[in-house]
Amino acid sequence: MITKNSIHTVNIDSINSSGFGVCRIDGIVCFVAGAVTGDELEIKIIKAKKNYTIGRIEKIISPSPKRQENDCTVFKKCGGCVYRHISYKVELEIKESTVRDALTRIGHIENINLKPIISADNFLRYRNKAQYPVKNENGKFSAGFFAARTHEIIPCEDCLLQPEIFSSVVKTICQWAEENNISSYDEKTNKGVLRHIYLRIAEETNEIMVTLVATQQRIKNQDELIEKLTKEFPQIKTIVLNINDKKTNVILGEECITLFGNGYITDVLCGTKIKISPLSFYQVNRRQAEKLYEKAKEYMGDIKNKNVLDLYCGTGTIGLCTARDAKKLIGVEIIEQAVNDAKENAKLNERENTEFICGDAEKAAEILRQKNIKVDIIVVDPPRKGLTENLIGTIADFGTEKVVYVSCDPATLARDCEIFKRHGFKVSEATPVDLFPRTAHVETVVSLVKLPPDDVINIELDLSELDR
Ligand code: SAH
Repeated sequence: MITKNSIHTVNIDSINSSGFGVCRIDGIVCFVAGAVTGDELEIKIIKAKKNYTIGRIEKIISPSPKRQENDCTVFKKCGGCVYRHISYKVELEIKESTVRDALTRIGHIENINLKPIISADNFLRYRNKAQYPVKNENGKFSAGFFAARTHEIIPCEDCLLQPEIFSSVVKTICQWAEENNISSYDEKTNKGVLRHIYLRIAEETNEIMVTLVATQQRIKNQDELIEKLTKEFPQIKTIVLNINDKKTNVILGEECITLFGNGYITDVLCGTKIKISPLSFYQVNRRQAEKLYEKAKEYMGDIKNKNVLDLYCGTGTIGLCTARDAKKLIGVEIIEQAVNDAKENAKLNERENTEFICGDAEKAAEILRQKNIKVDIIVVDPPRKGLTENLIGTIADFGTEKVVYVSCDPATLARDCEIFKRHGFKVSEATPVDLFPRTAHVETVVSLVKLPPDDVINIELDLSELDR
C-alpha cells in the first residue's frame, strides 16, 4: 500500500485525457498534474486510494523534451488550462489519441476511419466568453477564477485564453464596485449582491455584452456604472442584469433585466448572422466552430430537397449554417431564450423553411416520429452526457440514412456510437476538432450512415446449401 505524503521517483509514461501525467508505483497507477510523458520526477503522494494514487511534483529530476516553459502565472492554481507546459503539437497528438482510444475501447469500433484533428490557427485569446466570480474582501474588490476543483476565488488580471479587452472591462467594473462598496456574494452565508461578471464578444462585429449576475433586481449606483462602461468602451452594445438569488453553484439565474441596449449582441458565423443572448449557448471559439460546422456540413452530404432535424440546436447555429439549401430545417432546443434566438436568427437570415421547437430533444423526436414527419438527415449536438438509448432508438426509427453526431465528450460519444451500431448504423468517419486549445476538452464530429439491411445481418449463410 502506497501511503499519503510518501516521496517517490517516477517516470511518466503517458498523459491521460484529463491532462494528468500517468505513471505506476508498485503496479498502482498514479496521476500527476502538470507532468509530461518522458519526465523523470520526484513526487509526493497527496491522495492514496486502493486502486489509484495522485501525486504532486516536488522536483523535476529530468524534464521531458516535450516540455515547454509555462506562460501563465496562475496555471497551477486555475482549473481552466491543463496544457500550458507542452507544445501545441503535443497537445493535438494527445487529443487525437483520446478520441481514437474512446472510439475503439469504449465504442468497440474496429478500423475506425479517424481523420487528423483539425487544429486551431490561434491557441491564445480565442475565447469569446468569460465568467468571473467576484469577491469584496475588506473593501478590496477583485474578480478572478475558481481554483481547480474548489470554490476559492483566485484573482487574475489577465487570462491568456480571453481577449485583452475583457481584462479592461473587468477592471472598470471592479473599480466601480470598490468605490461604491458593492458586496460580493458569499456561498457559505448566502449573502451579498454581486456574484459574477459575465462577458461575451461577437468577434466578427466586435460587439460586447456585459452581464452582471446579482442576487437582487437592482444594484446601487448601477446607472453610474452603465455610463462609465459605455463611455469607456463604445463596443459594449448591451448591459444585462441577471438575477440569481439561489444558494447554488450554477452561475446564471433565469431572469434577465436589460439595463442598456437590446439585451443581445450579433455575431457572424459561416456567413450567417447569429443573435446571442446571455442565457443562450454559443460556441466559445468562433473560428473553430466554423471549421466544425463545415465538417458537419460535409458529413451531411447533399441536402437539396432534404428535411433536416437539428437536435440540441441552441440558437440554431448548426442547422442555419449548414442546411441553407435544405427543403426544411427543424430545430429542437430546451432553453426558451435560445429557441427565441433561433427563430430570430432564421428571420435575420431570411430563412423561411425553418421551424424551431422548444422542448426536450428525446420527447420532441418521439412526437415528430409519431406524427410520421419525414426526416432525411439528423444532426445531434448534445451536452456532455450524450444521448439516451431511447432517443437513439427513435432516431433509428425515422429511417434516416445519415446522422451527424457533434460531441464535446469522446467517452459518451463512443458509448452512443456503439448503440447506433446496434441499430444498424456504421461509423463511416470521425474528425476531432480542437475548439478548446490548452484545456483538456476536445470536440468530435462523426458521420453515421445507415447500412443497407443486408449488411446488418451478421449470420454467415452457406449459399451452397441452396443448390442441393
Ligand atoms: N448546436 C448548438 C448548441 C449545442 S450545446 C451549437 O452548436 O451552438 C447543447 C445544447 O443542448 C444547449 O443549447 C442546451 O441548452 C441544449 N439542451 C440540453 N439538454 C437538452 C434537452 N434535453 N433537449 C433539448 N436541448 C437540450
